[in-house]
Amino acid sequence: MKILITQALPDSALAPLRERYSIEVGSQSQPMSREALLEHVREIDGMIPTIADRIDASLLDAAIRLKIIANYGVGYNHIDVDAATERGILVTNTPDVLTDATAELAFALLLATARRIVEGDHRMRSGQFRYWAPLDFLGTEVSGKTLGIVGFGRIGQAMAKRAKAFDMRLLCTTRSPIDPSIGREYGITRVELESLLAQSDFISLHVPLTPETVHRIGSAEFARMKPSAILINTSRGPVVDETALVEALKKGTIAAAGLDVYENEPMMAPGLADLDRVVLLPHIGSATTETRTRMAKMAVANLLEGLGGRIPPNCLNPHAIGRKEQHRR
Ligand code: NAP
Repeated sequence: MKILITQALPDSALAPLRERYSIEVGSQSQPMSREALLEHVREIDGMIPTIADRIDASLLDAAIRLKIIANYGVGYNHIDVDAATERGILVTNTPDVLTDATAELAFALLLATARRIVEGDHRMRSGQFRYWAPLDFLGTEVSGKTLGIVGFGRIGQAMAKRAKAFDMRLLCTTRSPIDPSIGREYGITRVELESLLAQSDFISLHVPLTPETVHRIGSAEFARMKPSAILINTSRGPVVDETALVEALKKGTIAAAGLDVYENEPMMAPGLADLDRVVLLPHIGSATTETRTRMAKMAVANLLEGLGGRIPPNCLNPHAIGRKEQHRR
């Protein structure tokens, strides 16, 4: 059996695959081109793709032997799971193992935007720090402020845990009610989005990207926020209307933003990079050595289970089993 790993992953995690299968690993520096991907999928039985690969119905049509797509990441908006299911192909993801790393990064963005860390760093590097001044670099205190968490799942809850240590008041939105014991543990209140936007000093996004969450935060939502509000996005870029964000920052509708993800990665909306009160990171939410290794081990374990004809532990579409023959007919 042949396995494709579209980008280089921590090598130590790949040993169990190397022992049993012929594996091809993509480059460390850039994703595989669409042409190369189309060429490879014709011959493979399993694959580990990343967010940089678009796995759509036309790609899956060419993947006649493919049994499992073991995604390297928890978000899977780049994979057409329904098309995979129809073709009898299992899809898995890597939840939990990246929760702390991503929440740490979201909190780092919150602190960096509140206390103007990047602007201060620039002042030092450019040799412009001459003397201490009482009115220079005034930021926003984090302790005691209100944090609104949009999407109170694994990462949203890990964010709440960190915010609690800063004595923050916590609000959240989710479609389903939150477990009362978790609500008590974090001292968090579930409210409607409109109310969260109006009350929060910081708003941190943790929803998956779905048709329902595209542009969840746009000009109408910015208008509801406080002029002092700071938006943090480590979820997916299209959850925010990025052009409306640039407009809101320029006009002072909101104060600042900390972003790890972008609407059209790796591009940014015009004007975003010219603004001082934004902190911009290149989609590195899960980028710690520990987490990226755990993600690779989990993706490999999922792949091995799927290739062995079993339902992997992090399977998103167990009902795909047995559909392959049906699809061929
Ligand atoms: P999760 O545990 O599934 O949490 C998602 C939460 O969003 C759930 O509480 C869900 O609850 C809520 N939700 C879904 N649709 C919603 C909607 N329309 N309105 C309000 N709430 C909604 O996922 P997770 O592990 O925390 O990961 C969240 C996302 O973070 C991933 O999907 C991924 O895109 C992103 N992520 C980014 C990075 C990075 O590198 N920056 C790293 C890891 C993950 P209900 O279904 O009850 O509403």
